[in-house]
Amino acid sequence: MDRVLALVEQRDDMTQEEVVAAWTDLQVDPSQRRPSVETFMHAVCLSEGGAQWVAHTHAISCNAILCSALGAEPFLRHVFPDAIVVCGRHVAVVPYVDPGFYLGKVVQAEIRRFQDAYGMSPKLLLMENHGITALGQSAQEALNIQLMADKWAHALGHLCIGWPKILARDRSTANRLAA
Ligand SMILES: [Zn+2]
Repeated sequence: MDRVLALVEQRDDMTQEEVVAAWTDLQVDPSQRRPSVETFMHAVCLSEGGAQWVAHTHAISCNAILCSALGAEPFLRHVFPDAIVVCGRHVAVVPYVDPGFYLGKVVQAEIRRFQDAYGMSPKLLLMENHGITALGQSAQEALNIQLMADKWAHALGHLCIGWPKILARDRSTANRLAA
């Protein structure tokens, strides 16, 4: 964990080749399978995000909205109180970037923005054109956040959300930190 976080602190970006080359050093047991490219995102949620359990999915119900031209916008106001109780009054949002090292940087920046704005860590992170991540204090809480986000998305799914937002063929702009 410390070595993963040190890379997130020290580097602005890492190519997929550099990440793969670094795994040998990062893996606790090199005989095990290589970790996910989303390791950096998980590490940031577990450290700066204050989570004990992180659950990341590509739930169809949520992606139907997060992949629309509206993105995360429909989730920025609440439509029923259960979602506030389980997912928090505010949700964290990141735009699309390719899964990998840079996603960890973008999630880190969003967690910091969220903490500055609301004085707490997010419970639900919405990742446009990608999926959702629950930051829980227990496995049960992480699961509850996932299930509530699914319920929330189903409630919103009756909106007319229009055409999907298509991923750009050239995503080099999306994969760089904003100046
Ligand atoms: Zn993912």
